[in-house]
Amino acid sequence: MNFPTNYKDIIERVENISPKRYCKNRNFIDGDVTYLSPYISRGVISTKLIYDNCIKKGYDLSEIEKFVQELAWRDYWQLLWLENDINIDLKRLQPDINNNEISLNITKAQSGIEIIDQVINGLYETGYIHNHIRMYIASICCNISKSNWRNPAKWMYYYLLDGDLASNSLSWQWVAGANSNKKYYANQENINKYTYSNQRNTFLDHSYEKITDMSIPNELEKRILFDEKTILPKSDNLIINPNIQTCIYNYYNLDPLWRASNKANRILILEPSIYEKYPISKKCMDFMLELSKNIENIQIFAGEYKELTKLIINNNIYFKEHPLNSHYTGKKESRDWLTNVKGNYTSFFKYWNKAKKELKKSI
Ligand SMILES: Cc1cc2nc3c(=O)[nH]c(=O)nc-3n(C[C@H](O)[C@H](O)[C@H](O)COP(=O)(O)OP(=O)(O)OC[C@H]3O[C@@H](n4cnc5c(N)ncnc54)[C@H](O)[C@@H]3O)c2cc1C
Repeated sequence: MNFPTNYKDIIERVENISPKRYCKNRNFIDGDVTYLSPYISRGVISTKLIYDNCIKKGYDLSEIEKFVQELAWRDYWQLLWLENDINIDLKRLQPDINNNEISLNITKAQSGIEIIDQVINGLYETGYIHNHIRMYIASICCNISKSNWRNPAKWMYYYLLDGDLASNSLSWQWVAGANSNKKYYANQENINKYTYSNQRNTFLDHSYEKITDMSIPNELEKRILFDEKTILPKSDNLIINPNIQTCIYNYYNLDPLWRASNKANRILILEPSIYEKYPISKKCMDFMLELSKNIENIQIFAGEYKELTKLIINNNIYFKEHPLNSHYTGKKESRDWLTNVKGNYTSFFKYWNKAKKELKKSI
């Protein structure tokens, strides 16, 4: 799978999705998934834009409900991020932890589960993993290898083009039983079914009773602390016109249509403190920089927000609301959401029932 960065190609990808087929086959490795998450996560397009496009094409909500629900999951995790510290175990402490690292053979794509190893190599090449395989990998790391979810989640976030701290942390927590009432397990039979493989005699080729109760397999015993860093590019020599507004872009907002009709200084900020805490790979960095080229006259600033504001004399600064921007000063504008339902819902379905009502009314 490749991920074009030109806005026209991205919109073409939105136009070509198959949401009806998606509802039937999304869990299979060759299912009709959209490959849109890198663009949603980087704030190029929104879940609302995708949903509106489906309705414009004449789909009825009832025939694509499973698809719209997945878009809603994305917004739901974002809403939880607004109200909670997603670095802390959300519902309960992750049970049955043995270590705070990640199995070396996962990072080397040598777990011995062939399809998992193929997909991990694919992650390094493409920056993408299918949702079901993300769940398998997280389960192997947290529930079979008994690692605390944080270091494996940091490893995956580093490589994913769609890296999104809310979807990532809260999904890892869900699999690990920290954001759910039970841990998620998949055995080899399940993996074989959804990936069309027929591997046998692996450490997962057992009944659920056995794998939920076994000690850490030899293949996963060696561990490392994943601790890669971000390589930031150099800043441009900024040219800031004091007579016009300044629009701030970042890893989570690369929307080329935002304030596009206004004359503005447009600055992509890369704050070392953010990338120190949440590192990303060179591939993810390059992807962001390529996506930013859809924004006219964008300039790059690698430094902290406070330093940037010293260079902007008129203080006429606009930015999009986001949990990582709470220290920004200026005029905060809303992100696009699928619906207006907001708040700290304790279960997805409580949120979804309200969201669905609103979506039905608006058709
Ligand atoms: C361990 C783990 C880590 C994850 N980390 C991330 C992450 O860093 N960034 C990220 O965007 N998603 C993450 N997800 C959620 C999900 O796997 C991806 O959003 C999805 O696979 C993206 O591929 P797609 O665009 O082809 O999705 P599709 O299946 O085509 O879905 C369409 C859109 O719906 C949303 N969506 C679909 N499934 C989910 C889901 N389970 N949770 C939340 N939103 C969903 C996404 O925005 C996606 O682009 C993670 C899931 C797991 C289990």
